[in-house]
Amino acid sequence: MQPSPARQVASAALPAQDPSRQPGPNNNDLFLYCCVCFQPLSSPPAPASNDEDDDWSPFWLTSCGHITCATHIFPEGAPSNAARSKHTCPYCQSIEVSITRLGVGETPAYLQDYFRPTNELLNDFYGAMTFQYNNLQRAATYFRKVAQDYRERTEKHRVVLKGVRDELAMAGSLKKYHFLS
Ligand SMILES: [Zn+2]
Ligand SMILES: [Zn+2]
Repeated sequence: MQPSPARQVASAALPAQDPSRQPGPNNNDLFLYCCVCFQPLSSPPAPASNDEDDDWSPFWLTSCGHITCATHIFPEGAPSNAARSKHTCPYCQSIEVSITRLGVGETPAYLQDYFRPTNELLNDFYGAMTFQYNNLQRAATYFRKVAQDYRERTEKHRVVLKGVRDELAMAGSLKKYHFLS
């Protein structure tokens, strides 16, 4: 008999590391592009200056939730403390926004899910749910067995105690009979 699809997923091992899941041109062009000029991640803008700039990154995410090319936010080149200072969002003009680097190998782990397709996220969610359900079910089976063992042991003790009580009752009546005779 063919196992049901649910059973197949339930018994599947944890997902293997999939290199296509890493932030990269394949996944990210849909979600990672500049709000101002729609430049996608796969063709990032070049640095504005030729300086060896440690803080240069082609894309940045603002705290107001907009992705922008570095060239809009730093027309003169990124300052060395770009990620630690406040800026004006080139898309919505919000002032005093903080910025975070985006891109392959740059997007912080806590933000990476924002740039993954929803079906992939739901698939991971379903995997985690199945894993937790299986663990809970295993614990439930174990504790049901423990409870059953206790019930059986209690029943045995009840039978033994009933035997003792019957014997005591019989001994009592024998003693009464002895005094009477
Ligand atoms: Zn742009
Ligand atoms: Zn903005």
